[in-house]
Amino acid sequence: EVVVNRIAAGEIIQRPANALKELLENSLDAKSTYIQVVVKAGGLKLLQIQDNGTGIRKEDLSIVCERFTTSKLCKFEDLTQIATFGFRGEALASISHVAHLCIQTKTAAEKCGYKATYADGKLLGAPKPCAGNQGTIITIEDLFYTMPQRRQALKSPNDEFQKVLDVLAKYAVHNPQVGFVLRKQGEQPALKTPASSTRADNIRIIYGAAIAKELMQFSYKDDMFKFELECQLTQVNYASKKSILLLFINQRLVESAALKSVLDAVYATYLPRGQHPFIYMSLTLPPQNLDVNVHPTKHEVHFLYQDEIIERIKQQVEAQLLGSNA
Ligand code: ADP
Ligand code: MG
Repeated sequence: EVVVNRIAAGEIIQRPANALKELLENSLDAKSTYIQVVVKAGGLKLLQIQDNGTGIRKEDLSIVCERFTTSKLCKFEDLTQIATFGFRGEALASISHVAHLCIQTKTAAEKCGYKATYADGKLLGAPKPCAGNQGTIITIEDLFYTMPQRRQALKSPNDEFQKVLDVLAKYAVHNPQVGFVLRKQGEQPALKTPASSTRADNIRIIYGAAIAKELMQFSYKDDMFKFELECQLTQVNYASKKSILLLFINQRLVESAALKSVLDAVYATYLPRGQHPFIYMSLTLPPQNLDVNVHPTKHEVHFLYQDEIIERIKQQVEAQLLGSNA
């Protein structure tokens, strides 16, 4: 059973960057305004995330690593109404099957914090009282020590660090109200954004002044298909050798091959060869229109009226690009 659980967990947690994504979403769901990430060996040796959110109640520490344990569903109907994709209570459980996991946390209501360690979905010993501020520190060590072949396949800490940086950068752009810090242990921050920042400022801090200067911002609300779009895009991205696309749907970083290929085609008709855009898109859809059968950790997303919605997004982007040429 342990082996089966580890294999299942290894499908959910594929590398440090996607463990980080789950942890970031938990911290954001917990209403954090400050999130700090520390890594060693690209997150393979150490991946630690500290937040100042609500914290986890002591009595919940024994169950947060059981599969399908979530505080985000109260009744069955919530399943169709839930605004986040992260609703299945599998992230922490999975991590505990493939790494050493320690949770230190304090809620506003409790006098002291508690520290708990986990292995294979189970709490090891009773949570120990400890000092600390309100919020949660999740420490993951030796990722995939239970799966030597997987560990072996992720050879390059540098590649893993780049992916970790990429995920954090995108969440920082999407959540400018939250302050983010990412550092390699013992080093200066590799990325740092202030709390109560703006999206444009975070794009400048992270992706550079040249891109930020070219940004066109627009929003669009569609009554027919009931979606909202927030967008920042450049016509030309002089500063980068490749396209940069940040796509969030209902606050979760996702990929949509269908939308991407339409955007690529739009830009191909506007841009000389070899020039690439920066695109940030945040799409909000009625939660019941998202395909809840797609596993929450799958990046590729599908939704109802996808073709129609993508066509409308295309029209909006074209109008922006045309407008800026006029
Ligand atoms: P899910 O996010 O799908 O509920 P997770 O396995 O990611 O499942 O987390 C399990 C539960 O642990 C969450 O529902 C939440 O109650 C709690 N939790 C995890 N991380 C945090 C955090 N940083 N702050 C507060 N609560 C947290
Ligand atoms: Mg989660």
